[in-house]
Amino acid sequence: MKRILIIYTGGTIGMIQNAETGALEAFNFEHIRQHLPELKQFDFNIDSYQFESPIDSSDMEPSLWVKLVDIIEENYAKYDGFVILHGTDTMSYTASALSFMLENLTKPVILTGSQLPIGVMRTDGRENLITSIEIAAATDAKGHAIVPEVCIFFGQCLYRGNRTTKKNSEQFNAFRSYNYPPLAQAGISISYADKFIHIPDFSKPLITHKNFDTNVLALTLFPGIQQQLIENVVKMKDIKGIILRTFGSGNAPSKQWFTDALTRATAEGKVIVNITQCQNGSVEMSLYKTGMLLLQAGIVSGHDMTVESAVTKLMILLGQGLSPEEVRKQMSTSIAGEISITGNKETK
Ligand code: ASP
Repeated sequence: MKRILIIYTGGTIGMIQNAETGALEAFNFEHIRQHLPELKQFDFNIDSYQFESPIDSSDMEPSLWVKLVDIIEENYAKYDGFVILHGTDTMSYTASALSFMLENLTKPVILTGSQLPIGVMRTDGRENLITSIEIAAATDAKGHAIVPEVCIFFGQCLYRGNRTTKKNSEQFNAFRSYNYPPLAQAGISISYADKFIHIPDFSKPLITHKNFDTNVLALTLFPGIQQQLIENVVKMKDIKGIILRTFGSGNAPSKQWFTDALTRATAEGKVIVNITQCQNGSVEMSLYKTGMLLLQAGIVSGHDMTVESAVTKLMILLGQGLSPEEVRKQMSTSIAGEISITGNKETK
């Protein structure tokens, strides 16, 4: 019998409406089968683990990512797959972080949640949870997991977690993966896009990374951004890495003070990574002079990484105590399928 562990962290999905008072109350996942009788139709052994104090995902933080990884690691041999119930607001950050923390992952880790509480009539939570369990348990003829990745399942689509962004706070299709195709679509049956799913070496053991350095910053450029602001930000002593959200294909103001400030920061050992504010597409600093200047300032390309991926990856790489040069190299390389290498100049 397949064994699935559901880990409940909090978020809207875990609410149930008291039929008498109409009030929303926390759902007890220990009695999950009682509340969701559909689960009895699965021929699986489903256990659950509940955070002592379920959180709104705006309170998510690296120590809780470590806790999630600890739970997965301790139960890795016992279960075929893991389903993490999580608030939607920061789900993409958690999915990205876990993808970097769980090296050589050979089992599915599926994050899901809902826009409406599981205990209200029109909830999207039931469908999201039931399909996530099915995906977490799906194996091929050899008995290997069909999707051995950290994913988000939401609104009928399965996405690679570190490619996702929350794009809608009202509709049921809350997530989107702008630069990578969905790994599966759930219709009458679940149709897996095999060629986009990463196949790991199933013989390798799981390696976990649990150290974070949170001295990072994501800085969004805008026309009119002040010289003093840039200069003060880049010279902050504790900041070790900056995700610079630039324009278009990776362009920034060509003013001398701007390039000088960034050049000084990189010379001091700060890692500055260029990602674009556009949802679709990649950074190509060699396309325009304004991008070229960034390249000369020692800034590295994050290619088509999402901001969620770039921030969590930078914290994890810095947490490993690597040299700035090594962190820069890895920020520009795909380590968990978070970057599409397009073959542009910066990647060669
Ligand atoms: N604020 C909630 C959270 O992220 C929203 C949700 O669950 O969708 O925890």
